[in-house]
Amino acid sequence: METKQKTLIYSDETIYRTISAMAEGDREDLIRLRRDFHRYPETGWLEMRTSAKIAEYLTSLGMEVLTGKDVCKEEARIGVPPQEVLDLHFRKVQEQGASPEFLTEEMGQGYTGVIGILHCGEGPSVALRFDIDALPMEEAQDLEHRPFCEGFSSQNPGMMHACGHDCHTAIGLETAKILSALKNHLHGTVKFLFQPGEEGTRGAYAMVENGHLDGVNYFAGTHVAPDDKEDDGDITPGTYGSLATCKYNVFFHGQAAHAGGFPEEGKNAVLAAAHAAVGLSGIARHSQGISRVNVGVIRGGSNSNVVADEAMISMEVRGETDEINQYMDRRAKEICQAAAAMEECSCEMKLMGRAPSQVSSPELIERISNLVRNHLPQYRISSNPNAKNWGSEDIGFMMNRVQEQGGQAVYMRTMTKMASPQHTVRFDVDEEVLVKGAVTFSAIVCDLLKKD
Ligand SMILES: [Zn+2]
Repeated sequence: METKQKTLIYSDETIYRTISAMAEGDREDLIRLRRDFHRYPETGWLEMRTSAKIAEYLTSLGMEVLTGKDVCKEEARIGVPPQEVLDLHFRKVQEQGASPEFLTEEMGQGYTGVIGILHCGEGPSVALRFDIDALPMEEAQDLEHRPFCEGFSSQNPGMMHACGHDCHTAIGLETAKILSALKNHLHGTVKFLFQPGEEGTRGAYAMVENGHLDGVNYFAGTHVAPDDKEDDGDITPGTYGSLATCKYNVFFHGQAAHAGGFPEEGKNAVLAAAHAAVGLSGIARHSQGISRVNVGVIRGGSNSNVVADEAMISMEVRGETDEINQYMDRRAKEICQAAAAMEECSCEMKLMGRAPSQVSSPELIERISNLVRNHLPQYRISSNPNAKNWGSEDIGFMMNRVQEQGGQAVYMRTMTKMASPQHTVRFDVDEEVLVKGAVTFSAIVCDLLKKD
């Protein structure tokens, strides 16, 4: 029995070579998958077709699959679109090839995201996160843009995979396929978290609140990134310092009146919004680190001769640490309320997204660096293995929960050539990154859960 069991277990060399060969062999499938997601991009909480496709794929691998309300906690979801938007999209995806068996009513209500669980007996638990949503922007539809030329540009007006989450989704599915095939060589549990609503930092918290990160020993996520001077290798295994953030839609309610006849009876919501916009920009900066504030939208009123009774702004604050962000958040709330009071208006702040700061665990960065050096000779670790993040990312909620419980977490970068920067209308990647991503994630899990 003992010897038979032993012969089943690959040596280190063989298992990592097998992983690379499997991903290479699936190259065409991986590209097809990515292009399918690219063709049908879906913004936060509308990832209905995407979720159905993921659930179908993971089910075909024989994994335990969670969808709908089992993925995101109902009251913890932030920035869910109105019901009519959800309904309209739900009807649309039924004509876009979502399998009726996997497209559920709950997905139609904005309970998107999928979790696959690979049970490999007793042992540590590893969670991998792949974000799946697109951006609310129009993709270029012209001959200078490869996705258009090759027939996989966006079929959903106003939505585009311009950040690379289509790649993350395909990488996650291929990793699930590889690790399912290697199941007998692993001990422990692998959770594949396909997260909705990353853009606008809306989805991760709702998954954490459903307990999916509790008891997780190791956590890894990645983002495709351009290779530049700091990220000079194939993989940067750690990042730190994404800015903590809070985002709000702020509504000012006033009182309409004839601007010429009885202006004293009016309460001008447009002026309240304007005071707020100016006041917010003047928040004193914190001595302990970087902070940001931006008012991105201001809307309100109806005509020059009417005192406006309604106005709104969309704004956000950010901070290098959670403390600095909390300071910015507190001042922003005080300023919005005070601006409303100046015009005798009321003010209502609706949270639209938030994320904490994040730090990768040094032990896990080191472990991944050694793994790549020793077993994935085709790839190179960046000379700075722990790079600073400047944006915001709600993956921090997941990393923090794992680290608070004594686990280790990393947020990596997987490098690729980009046709145009992220969040622009001609964004596209070198699809070589798909094999690279799947090999890296599979190898990391093998390193953590491989039977001796
Ligand atoms: Zn992104």
